[in-house]
Amino acid sequence: MYNGLVCSDKLNEECGIVGIYSNDIQDISKLTYFGLYSLQHRGQESCGIAVNNKGKIKYCKGMGLVSEVFDDDVLKNLDGNISIGHVRYSTTGESRASNAQPLVVKYKNGDIALAHNGNLVNARTIREILEEEGVVLQTTIDTEVIVNLIARYHKFGIESAIKKVMELIRGSYALVLTMGDMLIGVRDPYGIRPLCIGKLKKGFVIASESCALDTIGADFIRDVEPGEIIIIDAKGMKSIPYDKWCKKSLCIFELIYFARPDSIMDGISVYLARKEAGRILARESKVDADVVISVPDSGTAAAIGFSEESGIPFSEGLIKNRYVGRTFIKPSQELREQGVRLKLNVLKENIKGKRVVLVDDSIVRGTTIRWIVDILKSAGAKEVHVRISSPPVKYPCFFGIDTPERKQLIGAKNTTEEIRKLINADSLSYLSIEGLIKTTGKNGGFCLACFNGDYPMEVPLE
Ligand code: SF4
Repeated sequence: MYNGLVCSDKLNEECGIVGIYSNDIQDISKLTYFGLYSLQHRGQESCGIAVNNKGKIKYCKGMGLVSEVFDDDVLKNLDGNISIGHVRYSTTGESRASNAQPLVVKYKNGDIALAHNGNLVNARTIREILEEEGVVLQTTIDTEVIVNLIARYHKFGIESAIKKVMELIRGSYALVLTMGDMLIGVRDPYGIRPLCIGKLKKGFVIASESCALDTIGADFIRDVEPGEIIIIDAKGMKSIPYDKWCKKSLCIFELIYFARPDSIMDGISVYLARKEAGRILARESKVDADVVISVPDSGTAAAIGFSEESGIPFSEGLIKNRYVGRTFIKPSQELREQGVRLKLNVLKENIKGKRVVLVDDSIVRGTTIRWIVDILKSAGAKEVHVRISSPPVKYPCFFGIDTPERKQLIGAKNTTEEIRKLINADSLSYLSIEGLIKTTGKNGGFCLACFNGDYPMEVPLE
């Protein structure tokens, strides 16, 4: 995505999901809309809502932001008592309307709607088997494979069907689906992508992040456990735990960057973990400087932690244009040279003549940080010391995160000193892997594969 003067140099989350079961059937689609609204940071390309009314499913989905796709009339038409919603940013499957979710299909016994966050590592194999058996697939997304398998095994009962599907598919998946009179949530056996449960006065919510529960007035109950299946119907909520052991592997990048800071994920406050990362970073890589600034907003919590720990005052140094949406108009080289800055600008008063510590959460290709160091120096910073609140990204992700090829990852082919030179910083330090784990207050249970190449399961060769 083009994003201001430079292309966005962050890893991108692929999706956010929400599912609501309500005994009070008014406004369920509006509630889902607000839930999706709070998950918009997890995907901005397309979105959709499907509502189940006594087994019949109506839906609306389209390209664009939640606020662009839905209006009052559309939402009024989506009536029922069970709904699921999805926001998507994707590289798995092209960016087109037919790949938007939820995916709604008719099968022998009725309608199914399903929304998926994650990525299957064996979807291609299953897709080939289904196609050889004559199944016509209409999209290029993994989600269709899951829906097809659920429909195929439904004759064994929904619990058995989902268990059977979980035996076949491999990868990361947090799912919400509705069929018959049920809302169902499923988290993959490694718990790579997050999923949590909340309670409404007269119903339940299942969502990617707890910030969605807060937004719609639901009380957080707990996270869905890795491999757990949650079935909600008129009788209440039923949990089917996973009975085979898997190494828990929550994506650590959720805590570093993807999740909203006000979310609690697997018992960890995202904000506090980020702030702690800044504190540990300050201890690991001391520096003499006059001011700590952040790359807003992703580096701000860590910058505050760095400042508190080091005693170097925190100040605003970069101002973000909060009204920049998605722009596909790229300035020409000539305009670039004139310094068109759509997204970030320097607050010169706070950095001129100063030794600046610049804190950000991660470096992917290195393009953005190099540009930021340049504009800080042009604006009069005496020194720029870059501090990154995560280790160098060295390996691609296969679990639903958009990472460039390995050769484009600046951390994969360069030492820290080489990167420092490339980004023109006076010094550069990353948080250590041990330091990163410490930020969570736990001993482990995370996928760290983009830092250490240790994937929680076999992945396709690049
Ligand atoms: S490889 Fe990195 S981005 Fe992908 S799931 Fe693991 S920690 Fe998250």
